[in-house]
Amino acid sequence: MTDSVYQNFIDNAFVASESLLEVYNPANGQLLGRVPESPAEQVERAVAAARRAQKGWAAKTAIERAGYLRQIAAKVRANADRLARIITQEGGKVPGLAQVEVNFTADYLDYMAEWARRLEGEVLTSDRANEHIFLMRKPLGVVAGILPWNFPFFLIARKMAPALLTGNTIVIKPSEETPINCYAFAKLVAETDLPAGVFNVIGGKGASVGHGLSSHAGVDLVSFTGSVATGARIMASAAPNITKLNLELGGKAPAIVLADADLELAVKAIVASRVINTGQVCNCAERVYVERKVADAFIDKVAQAMAATRYGDPSQQADLDMGPLINQAGLDKVAQMVRTAIGQGAQRATGGQVADLGAGFHYQPTVLAGCKADMEIMRKEIFGPVLPIQVVDDLDEAIALANDSEYGLTSSIYTRDLNAALKACREIDFGETYINRENFEAMQGFHAGARKSGIGGADGKHGLYEYTRTQVVYIQG
Ligand code: NAD
Repeated sequence: MTDSVYQNFIDNAFVASESLLEVYNPANGQLLGRVPESPAEQVERAVAAARRAQKGWAAKTAIERAGYLRQIAAKVRANADRLARIITQEGGKVPGLAQVEVNFTADYLDYMAEWARRLEGEVLTSDRANEHIFLMRKPLGVVAGILPWNFPFFLIARKMAPALLTGNTIVIKPSEETPINCYAFAKLVAETDLPAGVFNVIGGKGASVGHGLSSHAGVDLVSFTGSVATGARIMASAAPNITKLNLELGGKAPAIVLADADLELAVKAIVASRVINTGQVCNCAERVYVERKVADAFIDKVAQAMAATRYGDPSQQADLDMGPLINQAGLDKVAQMVRTAIGQGAQRATGGQVADLGAGFHYQPTVLAGCKADMEIMRKEIFGPVLPIQVVDDLDEAIALANDSEYGLTSSIYTRDLNAALKACREIDFGETYINRENFEAMQGFHAGARKSGIGGADGKHGLYEYTRTQVVYIQG
């Protein structure tokens, strides 16, 4: 990738911005390109274009709209290697995972397209004679999709596909850390015959462009994925317009390991879940509660597996398990949290230091034993390759500790006891629970969080209908 200048995509045209932001490779500091810090006037243009296009778009049949999603999926597949390279360079993601992200994105577009012939309303019985009650599902109008940097490419589709299939138009704001893949996606969209204004991209910072969208009276849904703090800001800026929100926020996923668990499986799954994308995933094991009887064996095995993690610069080396953290702030946060935990009595089983690879934001894969419930590292999202472990006496204690969190996104439990697994499902208060496997959702599921992890959800039938409103019609006759 050369140092290119990228342009916004508004109303089917590429639009230059005078003010630009620089994008760097977090693994080695190389400048990758300059992207728009969009002026307010372009935010207005993008929302107005999406508004103008929406009625015509909604008037098409769902199967016609699905056809465009399939065209875009095919373009993504045809450009998969190039797109994966961009994701690796700007996000520091290892090549294999970047490929998975691109393929999953194409599959997701196709999956949502399949819903075209499955969208349903309802016919209800009435208390009145000779009356039919129809519950119809309608598009909301204009969606603003505000994206994070950790799965930047997939999240375009997670917002765009359900929005477009149900008759909405969309304005996407990529993260300022990883916008180039979104501009590459826009170029592919521009090669299709998708009507102008249906899909728009405007880049820039959260406080300016993100706020401009979430506070805009012409936006009918803000679909946001990112941190709890930003989610709260978006709620405040959307409040004056009573704009509908879909918020996918942070997580602090507990992994419970019971004494009867298949320890090899638990270790493999938890380490994979902590190392993937360098621990920067909302749904991956962020804290472990292990039963006392197997705690020493488990900690030894996890420490060995984490220590064997291969890390470095994924844009130079393909056979790595993880790359760098996204930026200096992310690295500083992880380093500070580990220092604080060690100061509070946590023991380093492996890692625990910034990794000096000459350049980039690298941190050693780290396991901390002896953690306690009130430590920051057991309560706040780390978003790095650090696994804190607390020993518990039984399942009841583990569930109570797991639930005692401001987050409620995903959770996992490792056991061979069906009753224990079912009890955990009943009592654990999280949007997702994984039994005997690593944390990763399916596109036909429903990805949603309890407590501060969000409002609403994504994927599957329930995620699709988040992009609709209902209209009830009473018909006498
Ligand atoms: P972030 O909240 O810092 O930024 C996300 C997006 O919000 C960016 O595009 C940013 O520019 C924008 N933004 C920032 N301030 C804004 C404002 N005032 N108004 C409008 N937009 C604003 O999050 P991040 O660092 O990019 O992503 C990491 C976070 O995302 C983690 O907390 C992670 O758990 C979460 N996440 C959640 C899910 C999920 O599905 N629940 C998925 C991925 C990431």
